Amino acid sequence: MPKKRENRCPECGETATEPYKTWELVAPFPDKKMRITVTVFGMFKCPSCGKNFRGVVSKAKMGAEGIEV
Ligand SMILES: [Zn+2]
Repeated sequence: MPKKRENRCPECGETATEPYKTWELVAPFPDKKMRITVTVFGMFKCPSCGKNFRGVVSKAKMGAEGIEV
């Protein structure tokens, strides 16, 4: 199960749960264990004050042995 990350509004500190837009960023180089880190970013809208902000949705490491989170 992927870890749930909390993304808090930088303005008021309210926690935004679901991003309205996500995209993946793949690290160009593997780590020592030859795994590639994939970071999923998301755009969130604060449910309290309506501010849009960017946060990390999840990170995954992909290697020969499968996916680690
Ligand atoms: Zn807010």
